[in-house]
Amino acid sequence: MILQQLKVSIFLLTPWRYKRKYSCIFYLASGIIYLITVMLLFIIIGRIFFPLPMYRLKPVPSTIVYDRNGKILRAFIAPDEMWRIPADIEDVSPKLLMAIINYEDRWFRYHPGINPFSLARAAITNIRAHRIVCGGSTITMQVARMMEPKPRTIRSKLIEMLRAIQMELAFSKDEILTFYFNMAPYGSNIVGSAAASHFYFNKDQKDLSLGEAALLAAIPNSPAVLRPDSRLWANYDVHPAILARNKVLARLLQNGKINQAQYSEAIAEPVSNQKYPMPFIAPQLAYKLKEMHPGISNILSAVDINIQLLAGETLKKHLQPLRKYGITNGAVVVMGTRTREVLAMVSSADFFDEEASGQVNGAMAPRSPGSALKPFVYALALDSGIVSSETILSDVPVDYSGYRPENYDDKFRGAVTVREALIHSLNVPAINLSAKLKFSSMEQRSIYSFLKEAEINTLTEPEEHYGLSLILGGCEVTLLDLTNLYCGLANMGEFGTYKLALEMADHNVSQKNSIVPPHLDRSISRRLLKEGTAYILTEILSEVERPDLPTCWESAINLPKVAWKTGTSYGHKDAWSIGYSPAYTIGVWVGNFDGAGSPAIVGAEAAAPILFDLFNALSSKEWYTRPDSVKERRVCSLSGMELSPYCRHSKNELYVPGVSPNQQCTMHKAIAIDKETGMRLCSHCRIGRDYETKIFVVWQPEIATWMERNGILVDKLPPHYSECSQVASGDGPVIRSPSAGSEYMIRQGVDIGYQKILLEASISNDSRSIFWFLDSKLIFNGSPTEKVFITPTSGNHKLVCMDDEGRATEMILRIR
Ligand SMILES: [Zn+2]
Ligand SMILES: [Zn+2]
Repeated sequence: MILQQLKVSIFLLTPWRYKRKYSCIFYLASGIIYLITVMLLFIIIGRIFFPLPMYRLKPVPSTIVYDRNGKILRAFIAPDEMWRIPADIEDVSPKLLMAIINYEDRWFRYHPGINPFSLARAAITNIRAHRIVCGGSTITMQVARMMEPKPRTIRSKLIEMLRAIQMELAFSKDEILTFYFNMAPYGSNIVGSAAASHFYFNKDQKDLSLGEAALLAAIPNSPAVLRPDSRLWANYDVHPAILARNKVLARLLQNGKINQAQYSEAIAEPVSNQKYPMPFIAPQLAYKLKEMHPGISNILSAVDINIQLLAGETLKKHLQPLRKYGITNGAVVVMGTRTREVLAMVSSADFFDEEASGQVNGAMAPRSPGSALKPFVYALALDSGIVSSETILSDVPVDYSGYRPENYDDKFRGAVTVREALIHSLNVPAINLSAKLKFSSMEQRSIYSFLKEAEINTLTEPEEHYGLSLILGGCEVTLLDLTNLYCGLANMGEFGTYKLALEMADHNVSQKNSIVPPHLDRSISRRLLKEGTAYILTEILSEVERPDLPTCWESAINLPKVAWKTGTSYGHKDAWSIGYSPAYTIGVWVGNFDGAGSPAIVGAEAAAPILFDLFNALSSKEWYTRPDSVKERRVCSLSGMELSPYCRHSKNELYVPGVSPNQQCTMHKAIAIDKETGMRLCSHCRIGRDYETKIFVVWQPEIATWMERNGILVDKLPPHYSECSQVASGDGPVIRSPSAGSEYMIRQGVDIGYQKILLEASISNDSRSIFWFLDSKLIFNGSPTEKVFITPTSGNHKLVCMDDEGRATEMILRIR
């Protein structure tokens, strides 16, 4: 009908004189127009009534977590239990591309989805053989079949042809090839050439050999038979997979795509009947990433597979001999200092070790940090100018409302410098500084608020909950957060968030156009410490002569310069060691996931060797250069303060001008001694008297008292000239008990004799005796080392302590 009309219309439109002469051309032209019209109708009807089921072309793939260079760390099976590794055309091996096109559809690049010649040839072959031998399907038609699997009938074939044309109109040739490589069946639940490369050859598809590529080109024709791990053919001389592969290779040779030498080499490749497991590296990290980003199928993690494997092996090696001491597990985090990218995260020594709870994510489990947070108290004190690195701190017993911190060795050292206190990880000076930061002024940040700012996410309770013991490990942190915290020090005071992933793409977005979700873009860093503070602290933490260097540690000789700190939690449950350099920041935790303690769980002995081994292996000799804000100065070697004319010895100190304390030494004092009485003269009573000047060392009151009690010889200043009425300047006594702000309860039914309250104060060593006044009544006059008790009576009392120089300190004592 239509043909007739067309003929008529063309005939009518043509001038008369040409009609007879060129009638054959008219027929041909009208035939072509007719064909095009039919095709167009076919497409339009197809489009309206049978639209392409696009979603079937991109089925939900497996979630794949890659290392930073695109190597698979771990793959998770797709929701329909299939293994699909989405790949772009660029990811496919050129050898495989060549093999598929030459074997399946030589004219793929040129036909419109169907190839009439191969269809005709297939029809003839099938008729001759009286069965279906070959399908004459193009690659596009095969994709159509993979999209909508149907039994092989003429009707199915026609639908495939419709679909093929639709696809050719909707997609480029490369896109169609991409569908093919992603949907081709490779036996049981293995789909696509990328998954097949991993399962059958244990490699990335871009690394395939020619023989392997040829095999992968052949398998989709009959995956159940041709999969190389098929046991069906165990007794046959030649596996059909080899025959199929050879057929593909022969075709390539015949088409001139490979030469004879390449052919012979590929033919000789053995075919293994092995099926390799999927990679299973950093399994907990991969799981975490998958959990954090639902619906995202390609996750490019920040992990460097080589560093990940190195860290895992190092941990395993060190844990093995520790097992007999009751240590079963550990975790390691390696970060690139500058990028804050997590290059390795070993969450447990062995994922499959049930006994040691190997599946726990040890890098992200909250644990007590022991002393590992201590450097940050010193950082805050340095940063606010309370101390410099040589400032003297007191290491004597203290009492904070009943809380009496002690050092790890149960010893007190009297006076220590900031440097010594940090290196020896002393508890008392850290607690004192922590208290000072918390209570002394509103402008200073407490360690709690600093840690919150620096993204220690496990501090979920209010500040009061933790109290002063926070800094001694009275809280929980994760190894990852802790390593990230040190990364802030390693970045000279710039803190930020670690990066687990670099980028990711969901399965509807090609990897090229992958997206970085805004919450992953954490390049923003915040300066929480001055550069000078971080540098000075780093210099202290990188000193080699220190007690937490592991014993018998031979590798330390060659150790690249590293700043590090160890920590051991209360009850020997967690051993920590965190270190950093400009290149890497590494955190190590060793312990038991069930929380069991062991005397061998000590940061310096169990965790530090792993840290040093890793730094040695990663060997980066890079170190920090001193920032311009940090200068060097000479300070009094005793007080650490700026030199006064009376100081005897000096030493060097790094400091930050304008920030570090710059008071002249107050410990070395020139005292005027009356020649006649031998008594001390002040600026008032000195006038008109004959005296000589002597240099005395005056300690802070609590240190002086502690030294005296412990039999350490201190300069004893002569008493003040008795006829002088002036009150001396300087520190008054420090009341140590009762503690300020506390309230005493008189317990009923208990003998009042057992409820006496201890009065105790520290005084400077320029005074010799002490006076206690209760409600303005003198109740004691004697040596400051003597213990004084009072019997409590309810009410508010004014308690005054005065030294023999007339310097007084008072407090309100509340008793109920
Ligand atoms: Zn001095
Ligand atoms: Zn005087």
